[in-house]
Amino acid sequence: MKEDILHNLKIINQRIKKACEKVGRNVDEVKLLLATKTVSAERIKIALESGQILIAENKVQELKEKYEDLKDITHQNHFIGHLQTNKIKDILKYDVACVQSVDRFDLAEKIHQRLSLEGKSIEILIQVNTSNEESKFGIHPDEAIDLVKKVAELDTLKIKGLMTIGLFSSETEKVRQCFKLLKNLQQKIIQQNISNVEMKELSMGMSGDLETAIEEGSTIVRVGTAVFGARIYPDSYYWDEKNKNL
Ligand SMILES: *Cc1c(COP(=O)(O)O)cnc(C)c1O
Repeated sequence: MKEDILHNLKIINQRIKKACEKVGRNVDEVKLLLATKTVSAERIKIALESGQILIAENKVQELKEKYEDLKDITHQNHFIGHLQTNKIKDILKYDVACVQSVDRFDLAEKIHQRLSLEGKSIEILIQVNTSNEESKFGIHPDEAIDLVKKVAELDTLKIKGLMTIGLFSSETEKVRQCFKLLKNLQQKIIQQNISNVEMKELSMGMSGDLETAIEEGSTIVRVGTAVFGARIYPDSYYWDEKNKNL
């Protein structure tokens, strides 16, 4: 088990390096974030002890379950799942450093209200639906800039960039269009010079498409199965609108 995880991490790091070299990027520009849904704390620990820092959960329940076991090991937790407003208190309680899945104003506003009460701030990314699939969360690309402007007025939220889940397809060029769209939005937002908005992070690319994402400018790749193996639940369990109350 341990060997597998360490071996897989090595391969992922080689893939990241190779993709960077292909387009002349510095490998330090791309962070590896481990998507740990369904992965036990014990297995996550193996990755953290080998020097990984960034992990992310999709569900507050899993964040909670693993919190005690992981809290003494250096790491940073991001949140990448659909977040219900009644769970906001919990993500703050369990030390989430960045919520990558902010995709609507009412959610941003409620996180802001909670943070204001606690006198805290948090980093966020705006999640954009670049694949035009109804089953995926994220703001429509045409509405993303307006959302960024509105959220920027909430001073406890530090906007660091954009996140997307690209199209699932074996046709690389179609997937690439999703990543190009996110990059394009990032550039447009930068040009608008909105105060309280940093646009340095592009969280895009997963086990199957991280090379394409890196070629298009990704700064955070979110990798699950390629490190920890296949999951028992289909991704629709985490991503579909109809499962959002789970
Ligand atoms: C599960 C998940 C990933 C990682 O997916 P893999 O294909 O297992 O690498 C990345 N991003 C999000 C939002 C996820 O839910």
